[in-house]
Parts: sequence; C-alpha cells; structure tokens
Amino acid sequence: MTRTAKLTQLRNKERWSVVIIGGGINGVATWRDLALQGIDALLIEKNDYCSGASAASSHMVHGGIRYLENGEFRLVNEAVNERNRLLQNAPHAVTPLPTTIPIFKRFSGLLNAPLKFIGLLNRPSERGALVIKIGIMLYEWYARETNSMPSHTLRNRATALATFPQLNPAITHTATYYDAMMPSPERICIDLLRDIETAETQALALNYLAATGASANTLTLTDQLTQETFTVRPELVINAAGPWIDIANANLNQPTRFIGGTKGSHLVLDHPELRQAIGDHEFFFENHDGRIVLIYPLHERVMIGTSDIAIDNPDDAVTTEAEIDYFLAMTKKVFPNIVIQRDAIVFHFSGVRPLPAGDAKSTGQISRDHHIKTVPVSEQNQYPILALVGGKWTTFRAFAEQTTDVVLKKLGRTRTVSTAALAIGGGKDYPLDVESWAIRTARETGVPIARATALFERYGTTGYAIAKSEALRPTPLVAAPSYTHGELHWLINHEQCQRLADLVLRRTLLGMLGYVTRPMLTELAQLMATALDWTAAQTEKEIVHTVALLNNKHGMQL
Ligand SMILES: Cc1cc2nc3c(=O)[nH]c(=O)nc-3n(C[C@H](O)[C@H](O)[C@H](O)COP(=O)(O)OP(=O)(O)OC[C@H]3O[C@@H](n4cnc5c(N)ncnc54)[C@H](O)[C@@H]3O)c2cc1C
Repeated sequence: MTRTAKLTQLRNKERWSVVIIGGGINGVATWRDLALQGIDALLIEKNDYCSGASAASSHMVHGGIRYLENGEFRLVNEAVNERNRLLQNAPHAVTPLPTTIPIFKRFSGLLNAPLKFIGLLNRPSERGALVIKIGIMLYEWYARETNSMPSHTLRNRATALATFPQLNPAITHTATYYDAMMPSPERICIDLLRDIETAETQALALNYLAATGASANTLTLTDQLTQETFTVRPELVINAAGPWIDIANANLNQPTRFIGGTKGSHLVLDHPELRQAIGDHEFFFENHDGRIVLIYPLHERVMIGTSDIAIDNPDDAVTTEAEIDYFLAMTKKVFPNIVIQRDAIVFHFSGVRPLPAGDAKSTGQISRDHHIKTVPVSEQNQYPILALVGGKWTTFRAFAEQTTDVVLKKLGRTRTVSTAALAIGGGKDYPLDVESWAIRTARETGVPIARATALFERYGTTGYAIAKSEALRPTPLVAAPSYTHGELHWLINHEQCQRLADLVLRRTLLGMLGYVTRPMLTELAQLMATALDWTAAQTEKEIVHTVALLNNKHGMQL
C-alpha cells in the first residue's frame, strides 16, 4: 500500500485497539505479533524504521556472555535460545560468528562472579583463561537444546599465534566460541514489516509519523513530511520509543523516569590488513576497567566498538574524538603491529541503549534485561500505556511475544499464532542448495546466474522478486555498480522508503560501509525522484539533508 493510501486509511479510522509508538525493533516486532493475532494495531515511527537504538547496535546476535557475571541468567538463557531461533528463522540475515577472546592472564578473576553476585564487588577486573573457559561452558550449556553451532576452542599461545599471526605475543591463550552476526540489522526490521504488509491483516504501519500530543482518550499524530495532524482513539498504547520513552510519555502528559540510557559508538574502517588479521572472527574482550571492546568483520570492512557512557538526551549521541582515540588504542592492544591512521575510518555511528533508570555503580552493571512498565489509566489518560524498557536486539521476538500476551489478556483475546518458528522475510523457503536456487531464478527472471546469486546473498529468497525487477531495469548504478536500477526501484517501492537517507542508510549498506559520494547521492536521488514523483527542489533538498546527516552524525566529509 502506498503512503497516500495509508494516510487515507488513517483519516477514515479513528479507533484502534492498539497504537504502538516507535518503529525500532521492539515496536516493529510487537506490531508484527499483534497483527498476526488479528489485532488492529497501528505502528507509528517519527523518523524512519530502525533509525534509533536499533541502528546503533554492535550487530551481534548473542546471549551476552558477560551478563553471566552480573547474574542475569534469565536474560542469557532467553537470548541464546533466541539467537538460535534467529539462525533458523532468518538464515539470510543471521549467521554464525566465531568470537575470539584474547587472554592475557591465566587465573585472574576467579572470584569476580561469586563476589559480584553476593554484592561484594562492584568494580570490573580482568579475567584469566580458567574463568573465561568456565564462563563459556556455562554459556554453551544454556544453549544446549537449540544450538547448532560448534563448541568452543581454547588455544594456547603458540597455536593462537599460528592462527592469528598479528595478535599481541603477550597473550597466554585465546578462547573461541560461537555467537551470531547480523551484518544488516535494519534489513531484518524491514523484513518483519514487509511480512505483515503483504499479508491480509488489520494492522497499519507508517514511518515519519510522530506521537505529538494527547487528550484524555485521544492521541495526536503529526506527519513529519507534511505537518498534517491526525487524531486516533486507542484502547491501549504501547510506548516502544526506546531511549525516548520518557520524552514520549511526557508528550502524552504522563511524566515518567523509566530510562537511564547509555551511549555506545562504533567506527567502520577500510583497513585490509586489520580485516585480514581478524579473518572471519570477531575479537571480543574487556578492557581492564570492564568496558567491552569488539573488532568485527563487517563485509570487507572492520567495525570497532563500543562505548558505554551515560547520556540524558538521545538526540545528542554522536561519536567523539575521545572515543575514536580509545577505540584505536584498544585495537593496538590486541594487534600492536598494525598501524591504523584516522583516515581509515570511513563511517562512524552512535546510539543510546534504552536501559532502565537505576543506581548501578558503573554503566556496565546496568541490567540489560527487558521489562514492561505500565502507566495505569488516569484522569489524563483513559488508555493504559505499556512502556517497553530495555531489550536486546537479539531478544526482540521474545519481548514482543511477552508484550503481545499482556495486550491480548487486556483485550480479552487469545493467541492464535506463534512466532517461535516463523520464517522471516528472505528466510522463507530457504533453499538447501543455493546454486540450484540461483539457476532457477536466473532462468525464470532473465537475470544472469551471478546476479541471482548476489541478490540471494543480499536478500535471501526475496532476491527472486528483486531479480524480476532487475530484469526490467538492469542498468548498474554508475557510482555503485553492484546495485542496479531495478533492485533499487524495488526497494524504494516495496520498503516504505520516504527519504534519500532511508535508502542510503537502512535499505542498503552503502552508507554503513562508507561508499557514499556526492555523485552517488545525485544518482540515487534521481531514482527516488522518479519513483516518488519528487520535484527538482525536493530532490535537491533530500541531497542536502543526507549530506548534512552523513557529515554531522557519521563523520563523512562529503
Ligand atoms: C551501542 C549499542 C550497541 C548494541 N549492541 C547490541 C548487540 O550487539 N546485540 C543486541 O542484541 N543488542 C544490542 N544493543 C541493544 C539494542 O540495539 C537495543 O536495545 C534495541 O535496538 C532497542 O530497540 P527499541 O525498538 O526498543 O528502541 P529504538 O530502536 O530506539 O526505537 C525507538 C523508536 O521510537 C521512535 N520514537 C521516539 N519517540 C517517538 C514519537 N513520539 N513518535 C513516534 N516514534 C517515536 C524513535 O525514532 C525510534 O526509532 C545495542 C544498543 C546500542 C545502543
């Protein structure tokens, strides 16, 4: 359905069983689950989908091995099993990630976990090989029933250096265990939306629509592209505004203090030597002060993160020079002979974790678990508000399921569909034999086999529909020949692309991998202008907006 048709539907329907504020992964997943149960749920996102905390993750689908030490066993158990489900349900987007911990001590940290657990230790300290091995064994034990990945390997110094010759020779061991990666988290979010949009449901989702006010039984929504306002009457509201939850509640005349967000940043580097040194492994370790550092293989680039800094206003999150210095110093600690200059940084990004407000002694000790906080019905609000606080990317399905069950109970309805084994987007009908899939797709659509294979790698089985579109417009982009006009035309028309930045940052990896140039933006803007009927002035405005965003928030110099 086009945006125009959706807005018409919104003008004609004031009463909604559920309105969800926020189209990050938690809002989208909850919307999907409610829609599958036949609920008329309206999802609104003030910006683009998956542009808040959900766009700032470390791209790990993981149980959070270090949360064991904080005693978050429920979360680890849930998250490793959700990780394993995602490997099954979204194999096009979530794949195994060998994760290697460089270890510099043998026995250090033996008492940390028990001391932390009984509240006698509030400071982090370095862990030795024995503690790490025990931690990994416990971690794997939680995933034992649903795990399909190999178990861990502890390498001694000689074997580790033979495997990773650029590693710091001061290590005593390395430990490699398996988690999972999602190189394009934004595409998973879009897949979930498209799954529902192509099904017959009573649900509606709109990006660039903000909750801007409320009366006792209404919500006011404002179209961020035209400033048109709409009034809806919800039976129940879900506040899935992530780090903006308290700001959104204040907009609804319900001041709360649920969130104590922490900022995390990442760099993306074009550095072939470092990329080769890590192979297909993520290097994952804790600094001596407990801060997590990760060096991650993001396609042909290397991603380095992350920080954990308390912040009040999520809109202020941006990578600082001090963070860049810190990331480069930490990388040097593990790969001391690899020289990294600042000009290798092709992109950086920063976002705020929607963690619960609390009194933890350090940001690393704030609980990473999720909770539903209820703002009960009052004189100001005749509908209850459920706020979705916390939530890992990895646990979106479980959190959405728990929220949906609460909502169904409140609405007097029962669950009819489970999402536990539901394939996602291009993970549907996933072939065992990719080569045969590519040959058939090429034969049926007319694209070369190599292109069918490339589209499969990018989109899973959705690549079939995109190949059909590509066959009609096979011209490659001049500035990015691995993308074609037909492919982008499909993304613009089927994935709610409203702004040029949506295409650059969230439907493709052109922004994240640092490939964007001014000529590329002009080329992409022309494609969008044709598809969305933009005027010349609007097209120019979109280019200016995207350039400013990439320069100011992502460290590019366009
Ligand atoms: C640095 C960092 C690293 C992380 N790494 C990982 C990781 O590797 N693995 C993992 O599993 N998890 C990770 N996480 C956690 C995970 O990314 C987040 O917890 C999760 O994405 C939160 O999603 P959300 O939908 O709740 O919030 P968000 O994605 O922030 O979504 C909230 C949305 O609400 C919208 N909104 C706000 N106000 C309004 C309004 N008034 N009207 C309409 N819309 C509104 C915002 O625009 C936003 O898009 C990381 C998080 C960060 C920040």
